[in-house]
Amino acid sequence: EPPADCPPDVEALGRSTWTFLHTLSASYPPAASPSQQSEMKQFLALFSRLYPCWTCAEDFQEWMGRRGNAPRVEGREGLGRWMCEAHNEVNRKLGKREFECARWEERWRTGWGDGRCD
Ligand code: FAD
Repeated sequence: EPPADCPPDVEALGRSTWTFLHTLSASYPPAASPSQQSEMKQFLALFSRLYPCWTCAEDFQEWMGRRGNAPRVEGREGLGRWMCEAHNEVNRKLGKREFECARWEERWRTGWGDGRCD
């Protein structure tokens, strides 16, 4: 029998959500307009309250609210780095390897330099 499609657990939800969040950063304009910046701030504030893993959401909100951790919404580079740092915070909490944030754009926007994503 083929495996049944089941509701996502915290891990499957997390993988899909990070794909969405990093892809969102990758498609953000290099220099965002004031309204784009305001919309992104609102989205992230609401996302951090509505994410359907309540302990995840609570810790994420707490991290976002700390000094120096406010979302950087001026443009793609800042947002992508910020998202990478947010993800690394969760990686540390879960004992996973940290990702090298200088390479977030290769992972999520351009593909790796060796052409393996072409
Ligand atoms: P993921 O961590 O899902 O990563 C997917 C891919 O992203 C990786 O394979 C890698 O290529 C890339 N990647 C990894 N790190 C980075 C980075 N820093 N920047 C850019 N790309 C990167 N799970 C819990 O158990 N407890 C929690 O409290 C929790 N909080 C979460 C909060 C949020 C906001 C989100 C979105 C998810 C949370 N999760 C939490 C889920 C957790 O982060 C993982 O998604 C899940 O454990 C599956 O991990 P994974 O090893 O498959 O890779």
